Amino acid sequence: MNTISELIAKARKIVIKFGSNTLAGSNGRINDTLLAEFAEQAFSLIKQGKQIVIVSSGAQVAGLSAMGKWERKRDIHYRQALCAVGQVKLMDAWERAFTPLGIHIAQILLTRDDFADNTRTLNMRNTLFTLVDEGIVPIINENDTVSVEEIKIGDNDTLAAQSAILWSADLLILFSDIDGLYDKNPKENNDAKLVSEVRDISAAKNSVKTSGNDGGAGEFGTGGIVTKLDAAQRIMGYGIPMILAHGTRTRALDALVSGTGQGTAFII
Ligand code: GLU
Repeated sequence: MNTISELIAKARKIVIKFGSNTLAGSNGRINDTLLAEFAEQAFSLIKQGKQIVIVSSGAQVAGLSAMGKWERKRDIHYRQALCAVGQVKLMDAWERAFTPLGIHIAQILLTRDDFADNTRTLNMRNTLFTLVDEGIVPIINENDTVSVEEIKIGDNDTLAAQSAILWSADLLILFSDIDGLYDKNPKENNDAKLVSEVRDISAAKNSVKTSGNDGGAGEFGTGGIVTKLDAAQRIMGYGIPMILAHGTRTRALDALVSGTGQGTAFII
């Protein structure tokens, strides 16, 4: 056992977030094998009595691979249209992953305004509780077609943190394309070391700022290490711990559960 596997063992309600660069292969297509393998790993946690909510990016990248000819179109309406196309592909991919296990999935699309409105928040919470109690796996994304720049949540790290708070989760796992938080930017420094535990989130944020280790957002995602640390700070304020780990390592969730996988644990 290590800190990460202990956190998972103790948690009953777990929110797991996938970034676009984790879900999509280098060809820009949703990685069906990764999704199917993840569903199996999640199922084994569900069989142990744990509850899972997924926050999934990937609408834009799935839209792009479907509508290749829109590649160069950068204006907001095309990006929103891409997300509208891609969200269907994304949910189709998730459904194909979970159906063989006899698990239903549900789509929840949220905007920043939804979290600011008490009635909507209550409805979202009740729906989440009902779905999960019935053994359904909710899959949350930002409602990109109605979210223009001014009203966007913007990145799914924040959305995942808000969802974890809304559902009163015990743990948030961010699956990204980095192994965790490093003491320097690993893309530029070969000797960068993985930080396995963070207890002082403000100090971690400051050191990232001063070292210029912003991690950088990937090609399709919007968040870098900064939004991940913001997410950690947000949920740690509610007493919820977070794990940041690489989502495309072989059977990444199983490895975290067994204590063989690496990552950064953000603990209070
Ligand atoms: N909602 C966006 C999508 O599904 C992703 C946002 C993010 O990468 O954080 O493409």
